[in-house]
Amino acid sequence: MSLLSIVVPCYNEDESVGIFLEEIRKTLKDYNFEVIYVNDGSSDDTLKHIKELASENSNVKYISFSRNFGKESAIYAGLTYASGDFVGLMDADLQHPPKLLPEMMESILNEGYDVVAARRVSRKGEPKIKSFFSQLFYKVFNKISDIDLVQGATDYRIMTRQVVDAVLELPEYNRFSKGLFQWVGFDTKWIEYENIERVAGESTWSFWSLIKYSIEGLVAFTTLPLSVSTFLGTIFSIIAFVYMLFVIIRYLIYSEAVPGYPTIMCSLLLLGGIQLLSIGVLGKYLEKTYFEAKDRPIFIVKESNMDEE
Ligand code: UDP
Ligand code: MG
Repeated sequence: MSLLSIVVPCYNEDESVGIFLEEIRKTLKDYNFEVIYVNDGSSDDTLKHIKELASENSNVKYISFSRNFGKESAIYAGLTYASGDFVGLMDADLQHPPKLLPEMMESILNEGYDVVAARRVSRKGEPKIKSFFSQLFYKVFNKISDIDLVQGATDYRIMTRQVVDAVLELPEYNRFSKGLFQWVGFDTKWIEYENIERVAGESTWSFWSLIKYSIEGLVAFTTLPLSVSTFLGTIFSIIAFVYMLFVIIRYLIYSEAVPGYPTIMCSLLLLGGIQLLSIGVLGKYLEKTYFEAKDRPIFIVKESNMDEE
């Protein structure tokens, strides 16, 4: 029977890991599966609980990082270690309803899909402002990048070995998994579900961290902002040049000197602003290149009960 590996990134989830395993065991009793907990440098008892679960269940595996590397790194580590013919990805807080798993497996096994992914259709229990910015992000992202993200797409998915290997072929340091999953392609089936609140603990994503994450995603998948700043820079330089000619000619004809001070101030500020903006955009891309060039590992494992594939 083919093996399903379920990768679960965990950051301070000591209350959730046990409940999670119980739910998975119930829903997947007819399947051959393993759960791979990736402890992302939790500061609570998550690792202790995971180890207990692993000692009681032979199909519970774990990887524990040397510090908090972030969910994206945890996903990558999990995918690297997973040996299943199919690999699933789920949050530990049960916000990704396990009851969808059998349906997802059926679609992969019998309908010939390479990926079955879940899409949140409601955002109840979430602040309005968060939903608003999230929707705005998807719109902007899809307009200006080469790939199309699906509204409400989550990381909750099951992939075939072939897709997992394709994702692992992208060892970039700045990881935006939603984009990477879309980038590798393959036939994807979307299953819809209603938003669920977490069973325990609190979300570690603050509003600010989501904004930062959105910018990371955009920069990772499009260089359009670079062209925008070049475009704006060019337009305004031309306008400034024409205006300069106008000022010189007017001076030659009327020889008035002091009037026009406000216009000069305005254009100075405007141009200065655009220059700073462009430098900022350039800097953002330079930063990405800088980190990729360092070629640092995406995660560091401190201990584990599995061998890397
Ligand atoms: N997570 C992680 N590393 C982090 C932050 C989060 O591995 O630095 C895990 C977390 O334990 C959970 C999943 O990523 O299993 C989703 O996190 P969370 O529930 O905080 O995000 P939300 O559901 O609010 O998007
Ligand atoms: Mg959550």
